[in-house]
Amino acid sequence: MRIVFFGAPGSGKGTQAAILKDTFGIPHISTGDLLRGHVARGTELGQKAKAVMEAGQLVSDDLVLGMLEDRLAEEDAKPGFILDGYPRNLAQADALGALLARIEQPLDVVIKLNVPNEAILERCAKRFAEQGRKDDDPEVVRGRLAVYAEQTAPVAEFYARAGKLVDVDGVGALADVTARILAAVRSAA
Ligand code: AMP
Repeated sequence: MRIVFFGAPGSGKGTQAAILKDTFGIPHISTGDLLRGHVARGTELGQKAKAVMEAGQLVSDDLVLGMLEDRLAEEDAKPGFILDGYPRNLAQADALGALLARIEQPLDVVIKLNVPNEAILERCAKRFAEQGRKDDDPEVVRGRLAVYAEQTAPVAEFYARAGKLVDVDGVGALADVTARILAAVRSAA
């Protein structure tokens, strides 16, 4: 099963992917987590990405694609994966399509978690207080939402036209959202 979790920052993609990876027995691959790992380890990629991430902008397509390609080549991703945070623009959606075609692993479904901006601002403010992620600062979150609206939202249209997009209401109790996603994935499989 090859799934993309799609949605604005703070829409719950990471939280839900972390829950559902065990249900499906496939890894949760978050490009944000991978990048934060590089920053924490101080790798060359991490050094290039750090300031861009803290400003809430997108890291360059080439850097992220190379990192993702390496991750998808790992053994645990052979049976499938939940991708979280990628693709974030149309160029990345094209690159992912080409990559998955090359390794003969086409996507099964793109789950789009819908959460209104006011709720997202609240959630990120809470995460900022708890985890101190610089890009969860309310000012930066506003910028990330603008990046999402301009660059990432068109990707939903791309997958809708391909017949792969399923909309899921991301508001409500965690378990309710999980159940909606499960139903959506099963109906698409
Ligand atoms: P996330 O944890 O998915 O919200 O990602 C945190 C930050 O990492 C983003 O605001 C970007 O700066 C960077 N990032 C994560 N995924 C991507 C991607 N697919 N393309 C470019 N930058 C990304």
